[in-house]
Amino acid sequence: MFKSPRLAAVLFCVIFTLSLSAQVPADWTTPFPSFRIAGNLFYVGSGDLASYLVVTPKGDILINSNLVSSPPLIRKSIEALGFHFSDIKILLISHAHYDHCAGSAEIVRETHAKYEVMAPDVFVVESGGRTDFQYARHKTMWFPPVHVDRVLHDGDKVSLGGTTLTAHLTAGHTKGTTTWTLDEQEFGSSGMEGAEGTRTLHVVIVGSPNVNPGYKLVHNKTYPQIASDYRHEFEVLKNLPCDAFLGAHGMYFGLKEKYARFKAGDRNAFIDPAGYRAYVADREQAFQAEFQRQLGK
Ligand SMILES: [Zn+2]
Repeated sequence: MFKSPRLAAVLFCVIFTLSLSAQVPADWTTPFPSFRIAGNLFYVGSGDLASYLVVTPKGDILINSNLVSSPPLIRKSIEALGFHFSDIKILLISHAHYDHCAGSAEIVRETHAKYEVMAPDVFVVESGGRTDFQYARHKTMWFPPVHVDRVLHDGDKVSLGGTTLTAHLTAGHTKGTTTWTLDEQEFGSSGMEGAEGTRTLHVVIVGSPNVNPGYKLVHNKTYPQIASDYRHEFEVLKNLPCDAFLGAHGMYFGLKEKYARFKAGDRNAFIDPAGYRAYVADREQAFQAEFQRQLGK
């Protein structure tokens, strides 16, 4: 078809790259209404890429910067709630993949937020994805490198203005995948904060328990301990107390369906301990099935 093999190769690369970058699901960039989940915790993400804002008197914490194109969307979501983008003092992520951390460079540049990342993901974040165990050669999954201000370890606390989040190392999906937990005060039946009948809510923001297509769980040269890390992750997730079930993607916890109920007046729509247990069990089963398949059993 092409007389010049080089031209053919260049065209193939261009088309291949375009088709790859066009693969971003529409939901990742579709705006979603921002809203208060509980207490000082707000949803400020898109239709599927979840971002969370923790608002405190000393400034705010943002979890997940999402795609390179996401910061203006996150800013709009924050401003729609009456808060200020510039109040972000600490930036956290669920894990070092471009759909959760590619916007970090812009957010850090604009807000001077401190970027705090789990130790095994730091190298990946600071190399812009070029050292990822799976995607190092996938240029479409690279992102602007960002300096990490604080290296986190399993169990570390991130505190600001009276709110404390705990970082749980739940690796496998990436070497530093982080599940965040915090406590919030539940809304009373009147929908008023501090109303009678409030209790402490354990919030879990799942980092990712998913085995991506192409992940080698057996004899993985760039991530030898991947299978044992996943097993450890499931043990951690099963043992976390959970009332409000959230995660890095809205898909994990049924964002749209729960938000519809929330809008219809169900203030407790995101309280779903049974859904959390079922999700973790389902993902563990999926991991086990894939592990057995790769073992050839
Ligand atoms: Zn991921």
